[in-house]
Amino acid sequence: MKFGFTLSATDGAARTGTISTPRGDIRTPAFMPVGTAATVKAMMPESVRETGADILLGNTYHLMLRPGAERIDRLGGLHRFMNWDRPILTDSGGFQVMSLADLRKLTETGVTFRSHVDGSKHELTPERSMEIQRLLGSDIVMAFDECPALPADRKRIEESMRLSMRWAERSRAAFGDRPGHALFGIQQGGLEQDLREESAEALAAIGFEGYAIGGLAVGEGQEAMFACLDYAPGQLPIDKPRYLMGVGKPDDLVGAVKRGVDMMDCVLPSRSGRTGQAWTRRGQVNLKNARHADDPRPLDEDCTCPACRNYSRAYLHHVMRAGEMISGMLLTWHNLHYYQELMAGMRSAIAAGDFAGFEAAFHAKRAEGDIEPL
Ligand SMILES: [Zn+2]
Repeated sequence: MKFGFTLSATDGAARTGTISTPRGDIRTPAFMPVGTAATVKAMMPESVRETGADILLGNTYHLMLRPGAERIDRLGGLHRFMNWDRPILTDSGGFQVMSLADLRKLTETGVTFRSHVDGSKHELTPERSMEIQRLLGSDIVMAFDECPALPADRKRIEESMRLSMRWAERSRAAFGDRPGHALFGIQQGGLEQDLREESAEALAAIGFEGYAIGGLAVGEGQEAMFACLDYAPGQLPIDKPRYLMGVGKPDDLVGAVKRGVDMMDCVLPSRSGRTGQAWTRRGQVNLKNARHADDPRPLDEDCTCPACRNYSRAYLHHVMRAGEMISGMLLTWHNLHYYQELMAGMRSAIAAGDFAGFEAAFHAKRAEGDIEPL
């Protein structure tokens, strides 16, 4: 079976459809929970699936350092290793090398660096990144790229984008012929529309199974990101999935889908779940706050997740304050459930041709804010 993408409906720039892979379908627009080190922290894989996730993201940088790609391959690949048999997308490692590793040295060939875990020396190149992602058994492989933090001057963004396009070509060549697996190219160019266009043209000339919008959500702010998304998705091939990397908050997801994005990923719902922060249709709720200590009501009375169905705000507040593990487990579950419900709501709205109505209701509910304290 081959990798494929079918659009079933559009509403303005927003689109809904299905990515098909030998490991199962991915309903788009899709949100991918992040399973950094072969686990979505605080969640069993079957629970992640129960929230409605069709696909997970794994991090090449973390997995190559610990436990190592060759070891995961010997143990049967990442799906078997972490007990997730549905699709997995892996990033290329490039972004995290630049943000986490020590003593980085960037050349035309690639990046050498020292591990932030044990100080060991490593090299990542387009060829090595493709090899690692193959060893992991990733279904959707990302091209190896370089991404400057914003703000950066135009010359730096231009040189970096052109290097990434040369690496995209090397990634395509190294990926080879792997039926059922996909390689995605990554558009760069910062907030410069003409550089984004040049990057999109270079990628389309090479040819990929999908295209990512990289280099956003790196400190530019929502307004600048949306301004870029007003044109960037439209520069990419219309018949292939478009993936916005590392985004975001619930209102970022709605704004990105409105502008034609099909896939997103972010650590936010799982990370904030471990710090007592819940995302609900009424906005953000801090369970650490003393106002919840005597509150017998659920976090969100309309939510069907286990945290909201079986526990009170008072309990969620108590286990958070007491540092109990179940706190992170319940809030991560709730947050991932809410994110997946938000995606499902957008898919239905696009199919029904009423994305504008959905968006208005989404913002109106958030504007109401959290329920009044008792
Ligand atoms: Zn819930």
